[in-house]
Amino acid sequence: MKKHDINRWIFEIPLEDIQKPYEDSGHTNTCICCGKKIRQNKYCVHLVNGNLVSTDQPFASDEDMGFYPIGNSCKNQLPNNFYFFMT
Ligand SMILES: [Zn+2]
Repeated sequence: MKKHDINRWIFEIPLEDIQKPYEDSGHTNTCICCGKKIRQNKYCVHLVNGNLVSTDQPFASDEDMGFYPIGNSCKNQLPNNFYFFMT
């Protein structure tokens, strides 16, 4: 997928723009934003080519990196169309 293939109604945020100094806690459920352990795995973000995207629809491309958990306090700093309920 190249930039121009992204639907015009889908917005992106580069992951590096929201990432904090990352401390990998070594747990399975770690926040993609800060690396801290997530107690209740409730929300996730959709990563495509290193960017958060405002859709939970999968991209037909190997640049779709899938869904990653995000902690409650970090997701509160995102616009609400950039995180999704875990299914
Ligand atoms: Zn976090």
